[in-house]
Amino acid sequence: MNEISKIPDMPKREPRQRKPDWIRVKAPVSKGFNETRRLMRELNLNTVCEEAACPNIGECWTKKHATVMILGDVCTRACAFCNVKTGMPRAVDKLEPQHTADAAAAMGLEHIVITSVDRDDLPDGGAGQFVKVIEALRRTTPSTTIEILTPDFRNKSRAAIEAIVTARPDVYNHNLETVPRLYPTIRPGARYYASLRLLEDVKNHDPSIFTKSGIMLGLGEERLEVHQVMDDMRSADIDFMTMGQYLQPTPKHTKVMDFVTPKAFDAYAAIARAKGFLLVASSPLTRSSYHAGDDFERLRTARQEKLAKAAFTKA
Ligand code: SF4
Repeated sequence: MNEISKIPDMPKREPRQRKPDWIRVKAPVSKGFNETRRLMRELNLNTVCEEAACPNIGECWTKKHATVMILGDVCTRACAFCNVKTGMPRAVDKLEPQHTADAAAAMGLEHIVITSVDRDDLPDGGAGQFVKVIEALRRTTPSTTIEILTPDFRNKSRAAIEAIVTARPDVYNHNLETVPRLYPTIRPGARYYASLRLLEDVKNHDPSIFTKSGIMLGLGEERLEVHQVMDDMRSADIDFMTMGQYLQPTPKHTKVMDFVTPKAFDAYAAIARAKGFLLVASSPLTRSSYHAGDDFERLRTARQEKLAKAAFTKA
């Protein structure tokens, strides 16, 4: 198992496929789970929980927390880690923004996470649909706080960021997914520094919006590469970093290189905190949207404490 290694000598590693005990999760059977599923079907909504074969679906859906995936269930990219279908997407569903808001209202959500497939086929990359969803949520369920997890809007990010930030989500998340060395194999359609710049642009446009980003561990990254990603994220003033174990969704996807131990996740979390993130979530089952509502409250508290501390030091 990969306790944090001492030397980043990048030896050739053999993939590991047998899941350790700390990865096993309960089967998704509960009344809350079935109700969440029924609501999503009725409103014709997709979720990343199902499309990405998320291991936390039993726990999250039982608590009526689902991450809605807008702009269809077909992605224009084919990342090696992702279970979402690839191909030519269908037309954008005009009812989706209101249906998403109706789902949030029906579930009584205090916090909602909205993500999407990549839509490189659309002139705005799908940014306009994010804006419409945020507007529908603000109208329908104004007290719900909104977290968005967007694609990189390749070659369109400037206009996309401007439009979305103007709609004022509470949290803007965009995942770096892995260390830059692994981009050509893991995330070939994306550019590491373009993703970092996107998050920096969000902060520059509106510093009050929390920014968040995450990586998967177990893809063959080295300890110092992960530390470098942390430094890069801090340089872009990212508030919240998440780290979770990569799991191979099907045999066609990239293989797991390491099952990182819970102790190693804790060690990474301690280093990330020392680097100055407002919040860090790091465990084998951490996903961008896992416990997102509770984490949002922690983020708010952490920012208030930081501001109070800064004011006290100045006085
Ligand atoms: S962690 Fe996120 S994607 Fe996974 S089931 Fe929970 S809400 Fe859905």
